[in-house]
Amino acid sequence: MSNNKLVFATNNLHKLEEVSKQLSEISILSLKEIDCHDEIPETGVTLQENALQKSTFVKEKYGYDCFADDTGLEIEALNGEPGVYSARYAGENCSFEDNMNKVLEALDGKTNRKARFRTVISLLKDGESHFFEGIVNGVISTEKYGEKGFGYDPIFMPDGFGCSFAEMTIEEKNKISHRGLAVAKLIEFLNKNA
Ligand code: IMP
Repeated sequence: MSNNKLVFATNNLHKLEEVSKQLSEISILSLKEIDCHDEIPETGVTLQENALQKSTFVKEKYGYDCFADDTGLEIEALNGEPGVYSARYAGENCSFEDNMNKVLEALDGKTNRKARFRTVISLLKDGESHFFEGIVNGVISTEKYGEKGFGYDPIFMPDGFGCSFAEMTIEEKNKISHRGLAVAKLIEFLNKNA
Protein backbone atom coordinates (compact mmCIF):
# COMPACT_ATOMS: atom_id res chain seq x y z
CA MET A 1 0.00 0.00 0.00
CA SER A 2 2.69 2.41 -0.93
CA ASN A 3 2.17 5.71 -2.75
CA ASN A 4 4.24 8.79 -3.47
CA LYS A 5 3.35 10.62 -0.25
CA LEU A 6 6.00 11.27 2.38
CA VAL A 7 5.44 10.30 6.02
CA PHE A 8 7.07 12.03 9.01
CA ALA A 9 7.71 9.17 11.44
CA THR A 10 7.19 10.78 14.83
CA ASN A 11 4.72 10.48 17.67
CA ASN A 12 5.99 13.74 19.17
CA LEU A 13 3.30 16.36 18.50
CA HIS A 14 5.71 19.24 19.25
CA LYS A 15 8.07 18.03 16.52
CA LEU A 16 5.16 17.52 14.12
CA GLU A 17 4.02 21.11 14.71
CA GLU A 18 7.54 22.55 14.23
CA VAL A 19 8.28 20.57 11.09
CA SER A 20 4.82 21.09 9.53
CA LYS A 21 5.32 24.88 9.75
CA GLN A 22 8.57 24.60 7.80
CA LEU A 23 7.22 22.09 5.27
CA SER A 24 4.15 24.13 4.35
CA GLU A 25 4.90 23.73 0.61
CA ILE A 26 5.51 19.97 0.84
CA SER A 27 2.66 17.71 1.81
CA ILE A 28 3.49 15.18 4.51
CA LEU A 29 1.47 12.57 6.33
CA SER A 30 1.60 11.96 10.08
CA LEU A 31 1.72 8.47 11.57
CA LYS A 32 -1.89 8.92 12.67
CA GLU A 33 -2.92 9.61 9.07
CA ILE A 34 -1.48 6.29 7.89
CA ASP A 35 -3.08 4.52 10.85
CA CYS A 36 0.26 3.68 12.46
CA HIS A 37 -0.13 3.50 16.22
CA ASP A 38 2.97 1.42 16.92
CA GLU A 39 5.56 2.16 19.56
CA ILE A 40 8.45 2.53 17.09
CA PRO A 41 11.67 1.04 18.49
CA GLU A 42 14.68 3.31 19.15
CA THR A 43 17.46 1.02 20.28
CA GLY A 44 20.45 2.48 18.44
CA VAL A 45 23.51 3.94 20.12
CA THR A 46 23.82 6.90 17.73
CA LEU A 47 21.35 9.51 16.50
CA GLN A 48 21.90 8.27 12.95
CA GLU A 49 21.07 4.68 13.88
CA ASN A 50 17.89 5.71 15.67
CA ALA A 51 16.70 7.98 12.87
CA LEU A 52 17.31 5.20 10.33
CA GLN A 53 15.60 2.63 12.57
CA LYS A 54 12.44 4.76 12.81
CA SER A 55 12.23 5.54 9.09
CA THR A 56 12.96 1.91 8.16
CA PHE A 57 10.22 0.64 10.50
CA VAL A 58 7.59 2.75 8.72
CA LYS A 59 8.91 2.00 5.23
CA GLU A 60 8.96 -1.76 5.82
CA LYS A 61 5.66 -2.07 7.66
CA TYR A 62 3.56 0.55 5.85
CA GLY A 63 5.31 0.94 2.48
CA TYR A 64 5.56 4.74 2.51
CA ASP A 65 8.61 6.81 1.68
CA CYS A 66 9.38 8.51 4.91
CA PHE A 67 11.69 10.56 7.09
CA ALA A 68 12.42 10.47 10.83
CA ASP A 69 14.59 12.58 13.09
CA ASP A 70 16.55 11.80 16.21
CA THR A 71 17.88 14.52 18.46
CA GLY A 72 20.29 14.73 21.36
CA LEU A 73 21.40 17.42 23.79
CA GLU A 74 25.21 17.17 24.03
CA ILE A 75 26.73 18.89 27.06
CA GLU A 76 30.48 19.50 26.97
CA ALA A 77 31.14 19.25 30.73
CA LEU A 78 29.20 15.95 30.83
CA ASN A 79 31.25 14.39 28.02
CA GLY A 80 28.42 14.76 25.53
CA GLU A 81 25.67 13.42 27.78
CA PRO A 82 22.71 12.98 27.68
CA GLY A 83 23.21 12.71 23.89
CA VAL A 84 21.35 9.85 22.28
CA TYR A 85 19.76 9.10 25.68
CA SER A 86 18.19 12.57 26.04
CA ALA A 87 14.59 11.29 26.19
CA ARG A 88 15.23 8.98 29.16
CA TYR A 89 18.09 10.81 30.92
CA ALA A 90 16.32 10.78 34.32
CA GLY A 91 14.98 7.22 33.86
CA GLU A 92 12.17 5.36 32.10
CA ASN A 93 8.88 7.30 31.96
CA CYS A 94 10.54 10.47 33.23
CA SER A 95 9.09 13.89 32.43
CA PHE A 96 10.73 16.85 30.67
CA GLU A 97 10.93 18.47 34.13
CA ASP A 98 12.80 15.44 35.58
CA ASN A 99 15.31 15.56 32.71
CA MET A 100 15.93 19.29 33.07
CA ASN A 101 16.34 18.99 36.85
CA LYS A 102 18.89 16.22 36.38
CA VAL A 103 20.91 18.37 33.95
CA LEU A 104 20.80 21.38 36.28
CA GLU A 105 21.98 19.21 39.19
CA ALA A 106 24.75 17.61 37.12
CA LEU A 107 26.02 21.09 36.13
CA ASP A 108 25.64 22.60 39.60
CA GLY A 109 28.78 24.64 40.36
CA LYS A 110 30.31 24.01 36.91
CA THR A 111 31.47 27.05 34.96
CA ASN A 112 31.58 25.32 31.57
CA ARG A 113 27.92 25.26 30.52
CA LYS A 114 28.50 24.85 26.77
CA ALA A 115 26.04 22.54 25.02
CA ARG A 116 24.64 21.82 21.63
CA PHE A 117 21.55 20.22 20.18
CA ARG A 118 22.16 17.89 17.27
CA THR A 119 19.51 16.42 14.97
CA VAL A 120 19.97 13.75 12.36
CA ILE A 121 17.20 13.19 9.82
CA SER A 122 16.99 9.91 7.91
CA LEU A 123 15.09 10.09 4.62
CA LEU A 124 14.08 6.93 2.72
CA LYS A 125 12.84 7.97 -0.69
CA ASP A 126 12.61 6.21 -4.05
CA GLY A 127 14.64 3.29 -2.73
CA GLU A 128 17.52 5.45 -1.49
CA SER A 129 18.70 6.48 1.97
CA HIS A 130 19.85 10.03 2.81
CA PHE A 131 20.88 11.81 6.03
CA PHE A 132 20.71 15.50 6.99
CA GLU A 133 22.27 16.99 10.13
CA GLY A 134 21.58 20.21 12.03
CA ILE A 135 23.49 21.62 15.02
CA VAL A 136 22.90 24.63 17.25
CA ASN A 137 25.42 25.73 19.87
CA GLY A 138 24.49 27.37 23.14
CA VAL A 139 24.72 27.18 26.92
CA ILE A 140 22.68 25.61 29.68
CA SER A 141 21.18 28.28 31.92
CA THR A 142 21.17 27.99 35.72
CA GLU A 143 17.38 28.06 35.87
CA LYS A 144 14.38 27.51 33.58
CA TYR A 145 13.08 30.32 31.38
CA GLY A 146 9.90 30.38 29.26
CA GLU A 147 6.88 28.20 28.70
CA LYS A 148 6.97 27.43 25.00
CA GLY A 149 8.51 24.49 23.17
CA PHE A 150 9.24 21.15 24.80
CA GLY A 151 11.97 18.96 26.23
CA TYR A 152 15.04 20.89 27.38
CA ASP A 153 13.95 24.16 25.70
CA PRO A 154 13.58 26.16 28.98
CA ILE A 155 17.25 25.58 29.95
CA PHE A 156 18.88 25.93 26.50
CA MET A 157 20.07 29.40 25.48
CA PRO A 158 21.25 29.43 21.85
CA ASP A 159 24.42 31.48 21.23
CA GLY A 160 23.73 35.06 20.16
CA PHE A 161 20.24 35.29 21.67
CA GLY A 162 19.57 36.52 25.19
CA CYS A 163 16.80 34.02 25.80
CA SER A 164 15.98 30.31 25.96
CA PHE A 165 14.34 28.27 23.19
CA ALA A 166 11.21 28.18 25.38
CA GLU A 167 10.95 31.98 25.11
CA MET A 168 10.91 31.88 21.29
CA THR A 169 8.01 31.35 18.91
CA ILE A 170 8.14 28.23 16.74
CA GLU A 171 9.08 30.40 13.75
CA GLU A 172 11.99 32.00 15.63
CA LYS A 173 13.21 28.63 16.93
CA ASN A 174 12.92 26.97 13.49
CA LYS A 175 15.21 29.58 11.90
CA ILE A 176 18.18 28.67 14.10
CA SER A 177 17.46 25.33 15.74
CA HIS A 178 19.12 21.94 15.18
CA ARG A 179 15.89 20.48 13.75
CA GLY A 180 15.11 23.64 11.77
CA LEU A 181 18.53 23.51 10.08
CA ALA A 182 18.27 19.78 9.33
CA VAL A 183 14.75 20.24 7.91
CA ALA A 184 15.98 23.13 5.74
CA LYS A 185 18.54 20.73 4.20
CA LEU A 186 15.78 18.12 3.74
CA ILE A 187 13.57 20.69 1.96
CA GLU A 188 16.43 21.77 -0.33
CA PHE A 189 17.01 18.13 -1.26
CA LEU A 190 13.30 17.42 -1.86
CA ASN A 191 12.94 20.53 -4.03
CA LYS A 192 15.95 19.56 -6.13
CA ASN A 193 14.73 15.98 -6.49
CA ALA A 194 11.00 16.59 -6.94
P1 IMP B 1 14.11 12.25 20.17
O1 IMP B 1 14.70 10.93 20.53
O2 IMP B 1 14.60 12.79 18.88
O3 IMP B 1 12.62 12.26 20.27
O4 IMP B 1 14.59 13.32 21.25
C1 IMP B 1 15.07 12.96 22.50
C2 IMP B 1 14.74 13.99 23.54
O5 IMP B 1 15.51 15.17 23.26
C3 IMP B 1 13.31 14.43 23.61
O6 IMP B 1 12.54 13.61 24.44
C4 IMP B 1 13.43 15.81 24.22
O7 IMP B 1 13.53 15.72 25.61
C5 IMP B 1 14.76 16.28 23.67
N1 IMP B 1 14.57 17.14 22.50
C6 IMP B 1 14.47 16.78 21.19
N2 IMP B 1 14.29 17.87 20.42
C7 IMP B 1 14.26 18.92 21.27
C8 IMP B 1 14.09 20.32 21.08
O8 IMP B 1 13.92 20.83 19.97
N3 IMP B 1 14.12 21.08 22.19
C9 IMP B 1 14.31 20.56 23.44
N4 IMP B 1 14.45 19.28 23.67
C10 IMP B 1 14.44 18.46 22.60
